[in-house]
Amino acid sequence: MIVATGKSILNGIAIGKIKIYKAPVYEINTGLIEDVDAEVARFNAAVAKAIDQQGVLYEKAKKDAGEESAAIFEAHQLMLEDDDLQDSAREIIIEQKRSAEYATKTAFDNYAQMFAEMDDPYMKARSADLLDVETDVLDFLMGNDTSSMQGTEPSILVAEDLAPSETVKLDKSLLLGMITREGSSNSHTAILARSMNLPSLIQCKEIDDSWDGKMAILDGYNSCVYIEPTDDLMKTLSAKHAEDVKKLALLQELKGKPSVTLDGTSVHVYANIGGPSDLGSVNENDAEGVGLFRSEFVYLNSKEEPTEEQQFTAYKRVVETLAPKLVIIRTCDIGADKTIDYMHLDKEENPALGFRAIRICLTRKDFFKKQLRALLRASAFGNMGIMFPMIISKWELMEAKALLEECKAELIKEGHKIGKYQLGIMIETPASVLVADDLAEEVDFFSLGTNDLTQYTCAIDRQNAKLERFSDTHHPAVLKAIQMTIEAGHRHNTWVGICGELGADPTLTETFLRMGIDELSVNAKSVLPLRKIIRSVDLSK
Ligand code: PEP
Ligand code: MG
Repeated sequence: MIVATGKSILNGIAIGKIKIYKAPVYEINTGLIEDVDAEVARFNAAVAKAIDQQGVLYEKAKKDAGEESAAIFEAHQLMLEDDDLQDSAREIIIEQKRSAEYATKTAFDNYAQMFAEMDDPYMKARSADLLDVETDVLDFLMGNDTSSMQGTEPSILVAEDLAPSETVKLDKSLLLGMITREGSSNSHTAILARSMNLPSLIQCKEIDDSWDGKMAILDGYNSCVYIEPTDDLMKTLSAKHAEDVKKLALLQELKGKPSVTLDGTSVHVYANIGGPSDLGSVNENDAEGVGLFRSEFVYLNSKEEPTEEQQFTAYKRVVETLAPKLVIIRTCDIGADKTIDYMHLDKEENPALGFRAIRICLTRKDFFKKQLRALLRASAFGNMGIMFPMIISKWELMEAKALLEECKAELIKEGHKIGKYQLGIMIETPASVLVADDLAEEVDFFSLGTNDLTQYTCAIDRQNAKLERFSDTHHPAVLKAIQMTIEAGHRHNTWVGICGELGADPTLTETFLRMGIDELSVNAKSVLPLRKIIRSVDLSK
């Protein structure tokens, strides 16, 4: 048995034979050609087919992985339709009397190189997309049939790397899992694999052609693959896999059912999201709303500061799509580990204790007001909550609220409609826990950010893997802080939820329910497992 390790991008187990996937080899005719017109016609036809193909891939990706994941193929279509790119290939055919394949490779490579040399990381990344569409055109020119590369029986696909177009072209019914030597967790391919719910390993440096056709187990829980596993291992992991399948099927039955304990206590189970691209997972997992929309991802995904209009579009889309479900949007929580070049933030000795979140927003008021205006305008389209992060003092909350009122007055004067919304704050510092009574008077809800609350209560850097031994997510001080916050909130009719990772910890669900928690906002995949636990708890006992 061989054991090879990598980085898992989705927990789960895949059992089956390995299929080594090899990208086609492109041997390009570099010689001179005679019939220039015929070559231009071949190029035009191949580009047209490649453009059509992006449309087909878009529809397929939309079905398999959702609209946001499919958007990459719209971008590919636009690249292929670019007149300058097409003209430069045609010029090579006409002026240099070269084949359509040579012209395609040369023109597309040049453009890809141009993108690769740009400073902007977003534009740099477009270089890979250009090379991806280049192979599509070459496949049409050379008559390559990539569909046969997957074999005929369901298998675990092993490849050096997979481009998004290769991934989406794969026949899902023949795909048990994926392993690549290269790849990064946030590549489009990893995103597609996750949304297709495929156990996958990336950065598996030991992959080998000799694995082809051999029986294997991809263990996403332990980030490894076993080639020719022992009978004992096969038995154990087959049982685990069967258990996963059974659990998933059982959980589906909970869709549409309320998250209510046996004695009739209702709790809301919401999902955490990073933007409109996560809308699919909210619905698929039957989340009752969104308890934390980390709006900073709207900023992080943008090359420059998003305009009020761009933000409005993103917030409106989420709020409108999910209405009448509640969507809580947290105002920009940048700084600390989330840095953005265009914000030009100074380097700091202690960034987690530094200029971050509400501290930036209350200092750069024009920046903050842009977001507040976008949020208020979006509030007219559904059921929204606005939440301020990292509040430690009442004056910060009052200043943020005053800015919100200022924006509201401006928007009303400009003729904009504003909907009803709830107002809340994150409780993620010991200071906010200790003054929670004062803060509660001013808001509709509290949401406990247990990731930062644990970091600041225990003085343990959440980013430092070396501190693992000292870090205790169940530290009694953190649990006590949660209890104190719930009690303070309830004294003032302020509802209290948890949106940090601890909310999804099944071993604490009953504890939180007994403390009186009103809402748990967790990663979408944890919604149904939590509902299952909630429905089995009897708080009267
Ligand atoms: C938290 O601190 O628990 C939280 C939810 O916010 P973030 O993880 O984005 O800091
Ligand atoms: Mg936080």
